[in-house]
Amino acid sequence: MNYDVAVIGSGAAGSVMAYELARRGLSVIVLERGRREDPVTFEHNELKMAPRVYKRGGLQTTRDNDTVILQGETVGGSTVINNAIWLRPDLDKVLPAWKEQGAEIDRERLIVAFEELEKNLHVSPIAPEIVNKGTDVFLKGCSELGIPGRILNHNRDECIACGWCNYGCRYNRKTSMLVTYIPWAESKGAVVVDRCREVRLLLNGTSVNGVEYVRDGRKEKVNIDAVVVSAGAVGSSEVLLKSGITAGGNTGNRFHILGGVLVTAETEEECNGYDGVGLTAIAGVDDDLVVETFFSPPGAFAIGLGGWFGTHIDRMKRYNRFAQAGVMTATDPRGVIRLNKKNNVVIDIQFTKPEIERLKKGIRILSNIYFAGGALSVYPATFRYFEFTHRGDIDEILGRIKRPDDLLLGSAHPQGGNIMCEDPSRGVVDHSFCVHGYENLYVADASIFPGNISTNCQAMVMGIAHTAAEFVAS
Ligand SMILES: Cc1cc2nc3c(=O)[nH]c(=O)nc-3n(C[C@H](O)[C@H](O)[C@H](O)COP(=O)(O)OP(=O)(O)OC[C@H]3O[C@@H](n4cnc5c(N)ncnc54)[C@H](O)[C@@H]3O)c2cc1C
Ligand code: SF4
Repeated sequence: MNYDVAVIGSGAAGSVMAYELARRGLSVIVLERGRREDPVTFEHNELKMAPRVYKRGGLQTTRDNDTVILQGETVGGSTVINNAIWLRPDLDKVLPAWKEQGAEIDRERLIVAFEELEKNLHVSPIAPEIVNKGTDVFLKGCSELGIPGRILNHNRDECIACGWCNYGCRYNRKTSMLVTYIPWAESKGAVVVDRCREVRLLLNGTSVNGVEYVRDGRKEKVNIDAVVVSAGAVGSSEVLLKSGITAGGNTGNRFHILGGVLVTAETEEECNGYDGVGLTAIAGVDDDLVVETFFSPPGAFAIGLGGWFGTHIDRMKRYNRFAQAGVMTATDPRGVIRLNKKNNVVIDIQFTKPEIERLKKGIRILSNIYFAGGALSVYPATFRYFEFTHRGDIDEILGRIKRPDDLLLGSAHPQGGNIMCEDPSRGVVDHSFCVHGYENLYVADASIFPGNISTNCQAMVMGIAHTAAEFVAS
């Protein structure tokens, strides 16, 4: 099998990359570890869907098990299970900060990419009629406290507001890669191969001349002129490390996450938060915090609710009286992705004390928002049973939260690990997304982010892939 380019991974980055290369006339093969799903078979059943579409069934965690790192593993990657929120990062902050780290990305090119992607993916403001009613409590609280709160943009088209986005959209209303860029790439001649295990790059000096993988128990090989690794943060470092590409010891280094904790508010009236789109609105609080509404089907909701045994059951019985939101903060790029003795991936990062303090500040702000919006009680997602019944409780209870494992932490926005830096002693890829020391090996996805973008990542990831495709093609 001979192709111009092999793209490893078919998520936000890999799909856009495959289409952009195929439409320029290159022959492209996409090698994806996950299975290709037919959206018609997606079920409203968390226990059945999580193992089908999530990496490690949704149980991927950091080395100390303190933080769950959520990622998709299916054709279309995390876009199949994401909340379809479309947020351009603040380029005036992100790009100068990246430049200081030695990573230069053309702002104008990115903006052209965003405009094209937004048109293709039907990006628009979320319509009020599909927003879940818990959002009203959040926005009312914001307005009472003078905090700017607003409804977000999303990439959905004629959404029927079933609220099951995190398990795949069976109605094809979310414009995920599975139903957009993947079929569009195929229409331009790209070949997409799912269930590729043990993907390994075959090296010949400073170039890669093939990719080997196992499918249905058989070893396969493709010959290629170039490879783009777009297996996501964590995944792309894994592919490089397992192929022996250490980039002077930089591969896997400077990993970081945007993550945090959920906060649930109990309301007097039934607000049926499950009925409608879950992630809908954002509050403009401090620069170092992201506060967004959220809601999920009962299984995932139960995990984030907090409380144990009888208390937990009693709380869950009031599922239709809850509003929920999340507080996220960015970690510094100090994490490491590495392989252990059994050649398995280890994600080594922990929230530091100052980062935990930032999250506590966010919990305080969010709890005040909910009380101002009329909530009766507020439950932060903590290991021990905590409940704020009025504003006066908040500081005393937050004082008892000291360590990362006092909170139920999670991240759906892992970044870094193969960072862009012109200096080969500090980074993995140069400004053209080419791995230092190799002629035809590229990385394009969230793993190249040298610093945290402090925003939901999909827009930036797709913009980066769109930009990188021009370098790869040329
Ligand atoms: C639950 C959830 C909700 C989210 N909600 C939002 C949101 O509303 N808005 C937003 O902006 N962002 C959201 N995100 C984040 C966003 O989806 C990701 O930032 C984005 O998809 C990352 O793109 P990527 O291409 O880097 O990785 P991914 O989209 O994760 O794709 C990587 C692909 O590579 C494959 N892969 C990994 N390893 C290998 C290997 N060894 N061989 C072959 N293939 C491999 C994976 O199976 C996967 O398909 C969410 C994420 C999650 C998990
Ligand atoms: S809420 Fe809309 S986009 Fe999400 S799964 Fe339901 S129909 Fe699809």
